[in-house]
Amino acid sequence: MPRLLAVLIALLALAPAGAGAMQVDPPPVATAPEVDPPIAWRDSRAVGMPYAGRLVDGVRLPSEGRDFWTYDWGLRAAPNRPWRRWGTDGLVQTVLDVLHDYRAAHPEAPRVGVADLSRPHGGRFGKNFGGLGHSSHQNGLDVDLLYPRRDGLERRAWAPELVDQRLSQELVDRFVDAGAVYVFTGPRLRLRGPRKVVVRLSHHDDHMHVRVRP
Ligand SMILES: [Zn+2]
Repeated sequence: MPRLLAVLIALLALAPAGAGAMQVDPPPVATAPEVDPPIAWRDSRAVGMPYAGRLVDGVRLPSEGRDFWTYDWGLRAAPNRPWRRWGTDGLVQTVLDVLHDYRAAHPEAPRVGVADLSRPHGGRFGKNFGGLGHSSHQNGLDVDLLYPRRDGLERRAWAPELVDQRLSQELVDRFVDAGAVYVFTGPRLRLRGPRKVVVRLSHHDDHMHVRVRP
């Protein structure tokens, strides 16, 4: 092989793979922490309504834990920014309990992606905060969760065929059992539950929305 060609091939091999290519949803760090990060618990108050309200003395969900990672709709990246991770103590406790029990029953399942809760003091969380925004998520009682993926990756299942329907159904069931008021799921998925609680809603094929009692 001519020497120049050999040098060119060697140089090409050194070029970073995918440099300049569009990166979509880079996966978060796949190693879960061995212990859950501490949480500053306090008694919270959900004021007003989920679509017109605010949050008093909210609790911040950590950026990740043994059973979950977090996802930022605005940046399309993990982890979610701290100001998008506030809820009532009841909501944060429910999410942690459900995800812990779910993962204990399915140790092989990937951690669950938790997307937006509410802002630190609740209030409007519309389009200007990124992505499609939220009409609700205003008083610390709402949380978005990403569906588990069939390939087990800790990434957003952005298309229905990526969704592990069996594990997703189990998550829905567990939130219903935990007393969720609503679980909104996507019309293209086949997730079931009690009528008036598990409701199919457009724009929910890539995440489920859970609302808990105050
Ligand atoms: Zn939502």
